[in-house]
Amino acid sequence: MNGTSRKAADPTGPVFDPDLLSRCISCGFCLPACPTYAATGDEASSPRGRINLMRALQDGDLDPYDPTLTEQASQCLGCRACEPVCPAGVEYGQLLEQWRDHQWKGRRQPLLARSLMLVTRLREAFRLAGAVRRLPGAVLRKVRRPSPGVAAGAGAPEASLMLGCFEQVLFPEVSRAARQLVPNLAVPTGQGCCGALHAHNGDTAAGERLAHRLGADLPGTIVTTSGGCAAHLASVLGRDRVKEISELLADGGAAEDPPGNRLPLPSKELGELRVDGRQARVTLQDSCHLRNGLGVWKEPRALLDRVADYVELPSAAGCCGAAGTYSLLRPRESRRILDAKVREIEAAGVDYVVAVNPGCLRQLRTGLRRSRSRVKAVHIAELLARASQDAPH
Ligand code: SF4
Ligand code: SF4
Repeated sequence: MNGTSRKAADPTGPVFDPDLLSRCISCGFCLPACPTYAATGDEASSPRGRINLMRALQDGDLDPYDPTLTEQASQCLGCRACEPVCPAGVEYGQLLEQWRDHQWKGRRQPLLARSLMLVTRLREAFRLAGAVRRLPGAVLRKVRRPSPGVAAGAGAPEASLMLGCFEQVLFPEVSRAARQLVPNLAVPTGQGCCGALHAHNGDTAAGERLAHRLGADLPGTIVTTSGGCAAHLASVLGRDRVKEISELLADGGAAEDPPGNRLPLPSKELGELRVDGRQARVTLQDSCHLRNGLGVWKEPRALLDRVADYVELPSAAGCCGAAGTYSLLRPRESRRILDAKVREIEAAGVDYVVAVNPGCLRQLRTGLRRSRSRVKAVHIAELLARASQDAPH
């Protein structure tokens, strides 16, 4: 699977890693998978077209201020739907990060992205100063070590729950649900940002630095409820260090790990979710980076199928328009994608649409609220925690 290793950026070298840039064979297999190409029909808005623009930039044939370059570096959702379909193994996500790192240097970085990163920097400064406990809305707790006898066996390594900066403020209930499902996770206090925001918005060095710092602060396997953070952390720290929560729950914490090297198991059985006296109907919105970057998409479906009547959305694998900061930077395009998604969710006749990433959760809730839908958007950890309460005891 692409995206599991990262080449360190060299500030004195070429804009793009030549090895990554040379892999594209211009076959065009990626074009049907690309939402911006589908929306515009313009070759420049396709993965192949953007790679050709990158090559022109690398070779000095285009000036960095060229308006097509500027527009395309921003119009791309960064959804990485072009990666799994590429026969040549082009790691487009890495190329896009290198592009934005060059294109959005200094004052060329979009103001909103700069402001968001400033917020995380301030938060980091507070954290280092020991003042983070006083930040409003932060969900901070004392370090909880795995309780003896609860983990999957003697010698089980620690695993830590990453709280996520976005979730701590907007969706603290998601981390609470994850702890309810897997109570023997350590939850270290004062966690910083993983750096995904920075890496996707033109500051690769900060993205890597923050990921390493968080990796040092969280012992053992890092369990996260955010598909986007999982993909970024795995690209910096290595795939073995990171488990997204549905991966952990679906394999019972241990399927591929050798005996004696098992992760904490979920503590409870899952029951059946019911709505109005019948089995609940649920659907899933994939996290682009979780699916296209880490190849995790079967796991959340298998879990939902255990607790409810699972309905697949035709566009489940397609971006919902959240795409990190995209919904803020390109609101019109983001809304167009979201409106189509909401219409599809409505047509599916479901009770819940499930997200595996906090940005998608916020985006779906916004769209459903705007259309006065009765469908509820929930995070998978919340829904499964509810199902674990309903399990026969
Ligand atoms: S990115 Fe991959 S699929 Fe797309 S044109 Fe290049 S080689 Fe073909
Ligand atoms: S990341 Fe998504 S939007 Fe960008 S080129 Fe690839 S498929 Fe298209």
